[in-house]
Amino acid sequence: MKRRSSGIEKEVDALGRVVLPKDFRKKLGLDKSAKVLISMDGDTLHIKASDKICIMCKRQTEINSDLGMCLSCIEKVKQYGK
Ligand SMILES: [Zn+2]
Repeated sequence: MKRRSSGIEKEVDALGRVVLPKDFRKKLGLDKSAKVLISMDGDTLHIKASDKICIMCKRQTEINSDLGMCLSCIEKVKQYGK
């Protein structure tokens, strides 16, 4: 791993994968299975930590990251199960 002035040089593997540096992942809160948004700008790739959204209603607030749902949807599911 070589550090360059503009970043860290990483190798792309045979399947096109690049490992994100651990300290970057830590800073952005990217745990296992976290989603990122990848976009292109000319010859530059941007990788952005995706905002956590509720899998049920797509809200972005009060998300329980274990369940991937907001608190109000969790309540609804609890009620449904009764
Ligand atoms: Zn929800």
